[in-house]
Amino acid sequence: MKAIRRFTVRPVLPEPLRPLHDLARNLRWSWHTETRELFRAADPEGWRPADADPVRLLGSLSAGRLTELAGDAEYLGRLAAASADLAEYLDGPRWYQEQRAAGAELPSGIAYFSPEFGVTAALPQYSGGLGILAGDHLKAASDLGVPLIGVGLLYRHGYFRQTLSREGWQQEHYPVLDPNELPLDLVREADGTPARVVLALPGGRSLHACVWLARVGRVPLLLLDSDVEENAPGERDVTDRLYGGGSDHRLLQEMLLGIGGVRAVRTWCRLTGTPEPEVFHTNEGHAGFLGLERIRELMPTGLDFEAALEVVRAGTVFTTHTPVPAGIDRFDRGLVARHFGDEGELPGVPVEKILPLGTETYPGGEPELFNMAVMGLRLAQRANGVSTLHGAVSREMFSGLWPGFDPAEVPITSVTNGVHAPTWVAPEVFRLGAGQVGEGRAHQVLSGGPVDDETSARTGTPRRWDAVTGIGDQEIWDLRRDLRGRLVTEVRRRLYASWRRRGAGTAELGWIDGVLDPDILTIGFARRVPSYKRLTLMLRDRDRLRELLLHPTHPIQIVVAGKAHPADDGGKRLVQELVRFADDPRVRHRIVFLPDYGMGMAQKLYPGCDVWLNNPLRPLEACGTSGMKAALNGCLNLSVRDGWWDEWFDPDFGWEIPTADGSAVDEDRRDELESNALYALIEDRVAPRFYDRGAGGLPDRWIEMVRSTLVNLGPKVLAGRMVREYVERLYAPAARARRALEPAVARDLAAWKAKVRAAWRGVSVDHVETVAGDAAGGSAELGATLALRVRIALGGLEPDDVEVQVVAGRVDSGDAIADAQTFPLKPAGGQDLEDRWLYEGPLTPDRTGPYGYTVRVLPAHRLLATSAELGLVALPTEATGEGAGVLMR
Ligand SMILES: *Cc1c(COP(=O)(O)O)cnc(C)c1O
Repeated sequence: MKAIRRFTVRPVLPEPLRPLHDLARNLRWSWHTETRELFRAADPEGWRPADADPVRLLGSLSAGRLTELAGDAEYLGRLAAASADLAEYLDGPRWYQEQRAAGAELPSGIAYFSPEFGVTAALPQYSGGLGILAGDHLKAASDLGVPLIGVGLLYRHGYFRQTLSREGWQQEHYPVLDPNELPLDLVREADGTPARVVLALPGGRSLHACVWLARVGRVPLLLLDSDVEENAPGERDVTDRLYGGGSDHRLLQEMLLGIGGVRAVRTWCRLTGTPEPEVFHTNEGHAGFLGLERIRELMPTGLDFEAALEVVRAGTVFTTHTPVPAGIDRFDRGLVARHFGDEGELPGVPVEKILPLGTETYPGGEPELFNMAVMGLRLAQRANGVSTLHGAVSREMFSGLWPGFDPAEVPITSVTNGVHAPTWVAPEVFRLGAGQVGEGRAHQVLSGGPVDDETSARTGTPRRWDAVTGIGDQEIWDLRRDLRGRLVTEVRRRLYASWRRRGAGTAELGWIDGVLDPDILTIGFARRVPSYKRLTLMLRDRDRLRELLLHPTHPIQIVVAGKAHPADDGGKRLVQELVRFADDPRVRHRIVFLPDYGMGMAQKLYPGCDVWLNNPLRPLEACGTSGMKAALNGCLNLSVRDGWWDEWFDPDFGWEIPTADGSAVDEDRRDELESNALYALIEDRVAPRFYDRGAGGLPDRWIEMVRSTLVNLGPKVLAGRMVREYVERLYAPAARARRALEPAVARDLAAWKAKVRAAWRGVSVDHVETVAGDAAGGSAELGATLALRVRIALGGLEPDDVEVQVVAGRVDSGDAIADAQTFPLKPAGGQDLEDRWLYEGPLTPDRTGPYGYTVRVLPAHRLLATSAELGLVALPTEATGEGAGVLMR
């Protein structure tokens, strides 16, 4: 029989156990081992580590068990300790507070928006790397005391769960998530009624949402949920699934996230007395409408659209996460137009001002589309990619928005991603480290706060990760084997469950007991399945792979996992190919595909592998984070030098798979070259090193690499390091810029920009000459100084409005300047008869060989973050640039 109504009966905890309630409702348990152990002890049978949830666990404890625990002095002692620890964690000063006390000018608050958050398996609101990164960002911010507010959507079905058909075809399931059974609380008004966020939709409809609160340590995460009674059925489904539905549906999701999200933040701050955030950070473009909502908020205060835009830009940080065009949301302009302007949401914000923000105004751009990443860049004064390489790729990719500038000058910086170590370091690894430095310090080290060198010198405690150098070879190797063994057990359990679901009878499955071997070199490969990640590259030469798996002395075993997007049949075919290969009785004991990759699986998988494999099509992996999580557990990386591995690769940490990136080969040939290189690396380098045992029977060189990975790579890949970089390089400057924009200043800045834009057509470099230090003959001596004199037309602007620069450096055969340096030229002696300004200055070439320079004019204003900000530059034209670009050879 089906119930007509559903509700949740909450447990009443006996008085002594009350503190369990707060411990269960703060997700810090998910990265605090001692708290987790406390819940496990409450019901060792009912606690399933993979998707354990203390809220559910408490709900299922019998009255008898509760009474028993309430009388267990030892348990209550642990409970009191965990409770006190949480209270201290929540209220004590941390890195951020120390920075402020030391005088650092930091924002009062930061709102961090993301379409998905992977905080714990118990709150399945993520599809992959983007969401897990967002979860790690919140946790690291919490550890460091950064006053962040997370903003997202609560998807009633989350992302799909993956199973396989008998034939190995991906099946998707969307379990219903009841927020009452999740570690969430409804945000309520002071009178107890649920807080509401409302958006106006075309045709007089409206979209209502309630707001759920997840406590991520010190950080509140607000999740908007459209499944409320006030909504018509269509609107109730807006937050049904992550990345589901067509573009109308996605637009509504993104409006709710961006616009509704700002309103949820305002509500939260009002109800809790939290200071309003000074900085808004949008993790990828999906939440970009948040900028429009903030413009709407500001306009009634007497700012026009342009001035409000300046204020919003100053306080916004945009992070781009993908160089793959399919990863960027683009909407039909008409669709966006229908939802904004006076007829829709945001009355008073003219739709004809909104549309240009998302227009792809670069060559090859599609005029009918509204691009969320492009809008993200226009609404944020500061933007970044997520690894050094991805920063460079993004500058190139978006350079069309800054015509006339070299890609190197495009104002997109990079902050390399990191991972939250307390979440991703296996308890076994943590214990080994804690044995060296003590538990408190081990927690501190993993949270990525800066090192206090003085304390460590005074107390003689090893500095951070160096402690690992003190751990013996045997201990490290025992740990590695232990982790591998645990993975083997986990793989068999999951494989068994998967085969049962695929319809196999228990009698057919005896072979699963022999799957994987705790002493064989174990390679892991798990990720979403977009084509650029090349799930099946390893299958390119199946015979060769089989030989590697079944090698008589140096065998390998491989664990693979990954979900294909539900609409991506190509990806599902790749999954099926892999599953079919792994189903083959000849190799099924050495290669497995595990369905339903998620955080719970990942936490077991990374530590249990010896080698983490990644073979994307370079440079399409923006950063990649799974290899970082593996490294933190002493797993070595075997990867194409893409994303983070491009900047931190070191032969002590693993191996680089050579790439045919940039060479003129087609994709098929490229796969062949790169897969051959992969096989050869495994056969000649990786496996021999693993099986090369020294005098003590240990693989000495391998262990040395494990140690080096932990000591030298570990500290770099931390989310704490990443969040500190965001604070120092992006949030703090954004807050300062935002504070500088008093209404009058914002109006002036907007007016100045308008004036400069209007006048720019009249700005030109009219005449360039070298007056001393003769380079006219085409050569100059090193050390000689050339005096330049330039005539500039300013089209009615004043010298204060611009900067005139010499750009100089080595030139290639096409006269392109590489490694350019810039030197300012100074105004000298007013205007000539043709209203041109004279500028002068010296140029001293600092290198021999082909050298060249040019002169350019840029807008200049103290409130610009970079001189490329307006995308305006005047360069000499061929005809007028007499003497410009003088070359010396
Ligand atoms: C870390 C992680 C990812 C992202 O890994 P990439 O290396 O960026 O592909 C995806 N899914 C899960 C479950 C993860 O833990």
